[in-house]
Amino acid sequence: MLFVTYGKNPYSMVREILEEIKPEKECNRDSLIALKPNLVLAKPSGSGATTSPELVRGVIEHFKEKGFLNLIIIESSWVGDSTERAFDVCGYKDLAREYNIELFDLKKDKGTKKKGDELTLSVCKKALEVDFLINLPVLKAHCQTRLTCALKNLKGLIPDKEKRRFHQLGLHQPIAELNTIIKTDLVIVDAIMGDLSHEEGGSPVEMGRIIGGEDPVLVDSYAAELLGLRAEEVPYILMSEQLGIGSLFDEATAIKEHRLDNYPKVTLKPSSRVKRLAQYIVEGGACSPCYGALIYALSRLEEEGHLEKFSEKIFIGRDYKDKESSSLGVGMCTARFERHISAGCPPKARDIVEYLKDYNKP
Ligand code: SF4
Repeated sequence: MLFVTYGKNPYSMVREILEEIKPEKECNRDSLIALKPNLVLAKPSGSGATTSPELVRGVIEHFKEKGFLNLIIIESSWVGDSTERAFDVCGYKDLAREYNIELFDLKKDKGTKKKGDELTLSVCKKALEVDFLINLPVLKAHCQTRLTCALKNLKGLIPDKEKRRFHQLGLHQPIAELNTIIKTDLVIVDAIMGDLSHEEGGSPVEMGRIIGGEDPVLVDSYAAELLGLRAEEVPYILMSEQLGIGSLFDEATAIKEHRLDNYPKVTLKPSSRVKRLAQYIVEGGACSPCYGALIYALSRLEEEGHLEKFSEKIFIGRDYKDKESSSLGVGMCTARFERHISAGCPPKARDIVEYLKDYNKP
């Protein structure tokens, strides 16, 4: 089961999702509950790179109000940055002070060897002491693995030396095996703002939602579709499924959606890369989950060479609701257009890619 809520206020959205999931039923009062955001580097969440501190605030308040006080925030930024700096720049130092919660910089921790399936991996000791791990990734693209979400977010729980070795090992196998050693108990994805192409941000795309679930494979395979990918295109997702970490998303997966009447509008000033893709779009009052899906889909199509001959404009947004046109439209609002890509509301980027990749073929 997946839980999705729409909007742009991460605090209230995450509170709503947690009231639904009730993760505290899996914890004892004295359980050590670790919150693992994605603070890959010292950039605020508006860059599309890091987890919003307001989302983390919502998680902290949920558990504190239920009487679970043994909370800790754990993270190790990528090799090129200081976690301490990321805690500061991303607003976590203020948060920790306000709620009297420890911020644990795993760069200062020792590694311990643990056997995965075929590999032996070095894992930070603190990560193994945790009783309940709340994985709080950002939904974004990645230049090597194509997607980074829940499964890959655990790479912040290993020593820097091991992070370098993960790259030498090609990332996919060690990421999957790391997830056999460290179990994620709950995933809450910050999918309000992600990045179009890189984990370090810089080309943010609004997606206007938070996704919750208890199975990181299910969450990631669903997340892949939102970015226009099939799970097979992200090998660590399939490897994780084969290692028994979780199940793949398919059309039969139950999704409980909230605030379907609360899709936020697109507000972000586009980066140059987003602007280039936006040339194909005629937008009129589009919601960000819809517009973001189209941007990600166009990015996939561009990567695969399908945009070279594409000269159409794609209409999107509430302004076209109930209007007839001979143009090409996407989403339920353009359902009366003669040529219509997907009736989803919001559509998934994967469905847009499937429709458009053969569009110019004779
Ligand atoms: S189809 Fe229309 S209402 Fe639905 S998400 Fe897209 S723009 Fe918004």
